[in-house]
Amino acid sequence: MSSPKIAIIGAGMAGITAARTLVAAGQNVQLFEKSRGSGGRLASKRSEMGRINLGAQAFTCDDADFLTELQLWQQQGWVTQSTHQQSQWTGIPYMSALTRHLLAQIDTHFACEIQALSYDSKGWLLHDQHAQTHGPFCQLIVAIPAPQAATLLKHCALALAEQAACVSMQPAWILALGFKQPLTVTKNLAQLRSSSIAEITCTPPSSEHPLQTWRIRASAQWSTLHLEDQHQHIIAALSKDFAAVLEIESPVADSVFAHRWRYAIGALPVPTTLLADLQRGLYLTGDWCICGDVQSAWQSGQRAALQLLSAAGQQPG
Ligand SMILES: Cc1cc2nc3c(=O)[nH]c(=O)nc-3n(C[C@H](O)[C@H](O)[C@H](O)COP(=O)(O)OP(=O)(O)OC[C@H]3O[C@@H](n4cnc5c(N)ncnc54)[C@H](O)[C@@H]3O)c2cc1C
Repeated sequence: MSSPKIAIIGAGMAGITAARTLVAAGQNVQLFEKSRGSGGRLASKRSEMGRINLGAQAFTCDDADFLTELQLWQQQGWVTQSTHQQSQWTGIPYMSALTRHLLAQIDTHFACEIQALSYDSKGWLLHDQHAQTHGPFCQLIVAIPAPQAATLLKHCALALAEQAACVSMQPAWILALGFKQPLTVTKNLAQLRSSSIAEITCTPPSSEHPLQTWRIRASAQWSTLHLEDQHQHIIAALSKDFAAVLEIESPVADSVFAHRWRYAIGALPVPTTLLADLQRGLYLTGDWCICGDVQSAWQSGQRAALQLLSAAGQQPG
């Protein structure tokens, strides 16, 4: 007989980590992801410029357990450590490739947005955007950004929904610009900021990136002010500010796109180790439970899985 089923909603670092920990312990896991690809805020986008990381471009590790895991991933050739800053890591050749490797053994339903949940004596039922129902599942891990978790849980787990609703997550607009004729810039990009621009990075042309590629991350304050603006407006406004910061004439890019993260960064005011309804087997996880970064997502996903195993009287693998 197969073991009781566990559902996980969200294929970002937290959900993937929870899934891997449970599968390693011999559990029967199904993962549900609303996007067509994996990674969440570690997603990347294919473009004329090559693959562009849309969210985190690198992440920091200062946790011994996470470091052990990263070293295993490094041996597999999935991540690399920065040569300038030892604590900085990145997925190779891009972030979503890492999450794809991590998901390889996990039964995942992509393009499946869970819009409602219900619970009865048989367990949890998940209702998707096509009015299909999945389940019942004896345990459920919700691994999505806090505001989305608050909405999903408000009709079936009000106390947890209220805790998630305490997290305010800041948005971020991303602008990518590609140039066939590379721009020549001598400034130190790490020091370039303005009220609208939080970060500028440049990737030189290579086999992975046919164009010289610039990624501009707008500041949280500017992104909040322009949250509902049209993409064309964002492209025009940020391109102008980019040129001003670099002190160059407004360049005409050969390739361009803008991406909006409605919920980019944010965390609970006080980090927590347990957000769960143990009686009904419901666990809440995500970067926002700890410090709102990739390491937190990994730690939180692992803790949720270990708590679930412990509540079910099972051992980790
Ligand atoms: C622009 C940007 C820059 C960043 N820079 C850094 C950095 O430098 N260093 C760092 O450590 N971190 C950084 N981060 C944060 C880092 O990316 C996140 O902390 C981490 O990836 C979050 O992982 P997660 O699994 O908690 O959530 P997510 O990655 O958000 O995963 C949640 C998943 O759930 C899915 N989902 C949501 N709702 C549903 C639903 N109803 N049904 C099904 N699926 C659903 C989403 O599509 C998503 O795939 C950055 C983020 C952004 C956006």
